[in-house]
Amino acid sequence: MTQIRFLCLLAIFFHPSSMGFSQAVPQEKDFVLEVVERNREAIALLGDSIFYFAELGMQEIESSKLMTEILEEEGFTIERALSGMPPAFMAVYGSGKPVIAIHTEFDSTPGNSQTPEVTEHRPLVEGAPGHAEGHNVNAAVMIGAAFAVKKTMEEFNLGGTLKIVGAPAEEQLISRPYLVRDGYFDDVDIVFHPHIGSRFSTQYGLRQYALISAEFNFKGESAHSATAPWMGRDALDAVELMDIGFDKFREHLEPTHRSHRVITSGGVQPNVIPDEATIWWFFRESTAEKVSVIFERAKVIAQGAALMTGTSYSVNIVSAVWPTRANQTAAEVIHRNIEWVGMPEWNSQEQALAKELQTNRDVEPIGLVNQVSSLHGATAQSTSANDSGDLTWLVPTGRITFPSNIPGIAAHHWAAGVAPATSIAHKGAVAGAKALAASVVDFLIDPQLLAKAKETFREEIAGVEFKSLLPPEQRPPLDINKELMERFRPLMRKDYLKEKPHFQ
Ligand SMILES: [Zn+2]
Repeated sequence: MTQIRFLCLLAIFFHPSSMGFSQAVPQEKDFVLEVVERNREAIALLGDSIFYFAELGMQEIESSKLMTEILEEEGFTIERALSGMPPAFMAVYGSGKPVIAIHTEFDSTPGNSQTPEVTEHRPLVEGAPGHAEGHNVNAAVMIGAAFAVKKTMEEFNLGGTLKIVGAPAEEQLISRPYLVRDGYFDDVDIVFHPHIGSRFSTQYGLRQYALISAEFNFKGESAHSATAPWMGRDALDAVELMDIGFDKFREHLEPTHRSHRVITSGGVQPNVIPDEATIWWFFRESTAEKVSVIFERAKVIAQGAALMTGTSYSVNIVSAVWPTRANQTAAEVIHRNIEWVGMPEWNSQEQALAKELQTNRDVEPIGLVNQVSSLHGATAQSTSANDSGDLTWLVPTGRITFPSNIPGIAAHHWAAGVAPATSIAHKGAVAGAKALAASVVDFLIDPQLLAKAKETFREEIAGVEFKSLLPPEQRPPLDINKELMERFRPLMRKDYLKEKPHFQ
């Protein structure tokens, strides 16, 4: 065994792709890559299984069950239903410092059902949810890496704790602010977050926006709209006035601001004056402070709308997150590993599929990306958000984007569901799991690296003190997407995969 390892070490030492490292690659990293490699099929099957479950946020019961079963069988200790959220889990292996966490999301999006590998719109189940962002592959990468790191810790007797966290309902930006508030990451030294993309890359700096998601519920008095409208107090009028009021307010907001809403309840039929109506807002700004100011103003606008209509209102904060950021030291480590692992080799069918979809979707038919991205800081803050934002201000975060999707295809559209259960996704997932696992091992075997990450992190946040935007008593909405999932799940079962992924 020792001899074999020595030979492997020699082979890697002279391997051209190891040039990113100044010295020979440690044997622990050689080993962790081998474990991922021998689990290619299991990683693919896990991602595909979750693709066909296609569970919406907070309803990811089957996906969560499958992942925790795999980890439990491997000897991780499982805690389920974190913060009262049934699909949320934490799987722990090892003990002591450092404590390294990997977390990711695995929810689908509504109405995006799509048959894999088909470049025209062909839902598996008409109107059903689908994985049109490829979060199913995030799960495969996280579990593949977790499994390989655990095997490596065991093989080389590495100290430290590995925590694997399943975070539900990212598409509604819900779970991680609650997990942070409830202390699940309190002892964690560094975290990694894998996410699907079309590139193999990492980043550092301020990446995304802050967001407050809140429902404004207006209550009035119902009445017959024709015979006694003077008896009524119209809650829908209040919703409309709040909407108009906010539009007037928009003109005076900084251009960085971004907010949008839907009316989720606006009465039942025209001859009954609605005594209840709800408008659900996403308020977005570049900082937690700025988004809080907008939210406070929105409450005043709601108060005005209530006053004008003789109704009352209440606010329910569904979720609230800080902007995401990523740590430079973590990014440098991840980047070296990305270069070492290298881009998957795409075959002609995979390139043809990518080009056909790009042509059908009217984007430049460049095919799949052939080279890993260069390392750079975030150039401009994206107006999107991710519910891991809070965590990124508390602990150094390494974000890894792995190449399992097709360039130019926008997420949350059926077309983004074409690739996530094909060989493109499988190859990208294996590459992603390798780079992720190798980066975790780097931090496990080199305490100085962690010290450096903590030091650069302190400089990066420059004294900003994190304070959760969630009210202390706020509970996560567990029934979100429940009805929709209950309607479609029985129809979707026909596509569930029979075979279970077997990691070894
Ligand atoms: Zn996502």
